[in-house]
Amino acid sequence: MAVQARRDEERGVVVVGAGIVGASIAYHLAGRGVRVTVVDGAAPGSGASSHSFAWINAGAKGPSYYHDFNRRSMEMWDRFALGLGVDVGLRWGGKVSWEATTERARLLEEWVQRAQRWGYPTRLVGPRELADLEPSLSTGPVVAAELSPIDGQVEPQRVVDACMLRLRERGASILPGARVSALSSVRGEKGVRRVESLVTPLGEVPCDVVVLAAGTGTTDLASTAGVDVPQQVSPGVVVRTSPVPRLMHKLQVVYAPPLDSAQDEVHFRQTSDGSVQIGEGTQESLRRDDSKCHADDLLARAVCYLPGLSGAMADPVPVGYRPMPLDGYPVLGFAPSVPNLYVAVTHSGVTLAPVIGELAAMEIVDGARVEILDHYRPERFA
Ligand SMILES: Cc1cc2nc3c(=O)[nH]c(=O)nc-3n(C[C@H](O)[C@H](O)[C@H](O)COP(=O)(O)OP(=O)(O)OC[C@H]3O[C@@H](n4cnc5c(N)ncnc54)[C@H](O)[C@@H]3O)c2cc1C
Repeated sequence: MAVQARRDEERGVVVVGAGIVGASIAYHLAGRGVRVTVVDGAAPGSGASSHSFAWINAGAKGPSYYHDFNRRSMEMWDRFALGLGVDVGLRWGGKVSWEATTERARLLEEWVQRAQRWGYPTRLVGPRELADLEPSLSTGPVVAAELSPIDGQVEPQRVVDACMLRLRERGASILPGARVSALSSVRGEKGVRRVESLVTPLGEVPCDVVVLAAGTGTTDLASTAGVDVPQQVSPGVVVRTSPVPRLMHKLQVVYAPPLDSAQDEVHFRQTSDGSVQIGEGTQESLRRDDSKCHADDLLARAVCYLPGLSGAMADPVPVGYRPMPLDGYPVLGFAPSVPNLYVAVTHSGVTLAPVIGELAAMEIVDGARVEILDHYRPERFA
């Protein structure tokens, strides 16, 4: 579905969803000269993107082709941020994790070996090197520690805002508060459908191509055109603290061990405004407790490892729902039964925003079929 040749009479590409994934796709499309409309049921960035821990990494992401996909995107982040032309909070400096029990240390060592087999430059470090890396950390007992030196962090809301700014400069239409209730499609030969327009409270929005980057809302919208994009429900909680003076000078992300066997590990990062974001468990852990009491508990646990945080106040943040395809892997590409409908839904969308934006634009504008996306096609659920 190459749109380039028809630019004069085109209705253009409509991107549904202005989270970090839709924003990146729209930005890359506009950069290719495509007429773009972005519609979002709420404010740009207010979905999963603003609830994210926003750690840029390719660590525990197998198999190796999925690791490579994340790694490619990591390497594209500097160029993406540079093109946006404002400070989006992109910071590099690495991530450390460590374990205080022999059993968990063994799992960490196995994980490092697996990541190294994929060529990820993570490595085990001793307690002294760990202490030197970030003197503000108070680690407690360390049985094994790991450093992933190429990991980073970014501020998703700033990325979305910057994309919207660049899009407006390029003449794109941005329609916040326009929840799409259905895709209006017509059936052609051999049962192949084509989306003609999107139904919104502002009226019907016509399209040549529609990109569904509506996060958790993608499943319902795709179903209105007969396309199955099944997802899991994946709630997560990341709390924020009031700003504090800079505590983390080199490292960007810390994964600290559980304080006792009844708890999960706690992870934190300090953003460029000085506030610290704190979550628990893994990147996929399901969490629904967004109470002030739980926020205070997370802060207390983080203070054990980062004592300089002790004067901060914890701000509870409502539960965020990760877009999470049923098998955990991205869903990217045109739907075979609706060839002008492009699906883009993924977990790890903060890490993956640059690669998805650039490659989706290539498929939409040039009609290319990018082979490294073949692992993630929507038809696997057909
Ligand atoms: C707690 C948590 C921690 C995370 N940690 C990380 C991490 O450390 N690293 C990482 O890479 N990723 C992380 N993620 C995942 C990452 O945040 C998401 O993959 C990413 O934000 C998804 O972006 P998106 O644009 O696809 O979706 P969203 O940001 O959810 O955007 C979708 C947009 O679509 C709009 N929309 C939905 N339905 C409709 C409709 N019918 N009509 C119009 N608009 C609609 C919504 O309003 C929303 O603005 C985390 C996520 C969570 C929740």
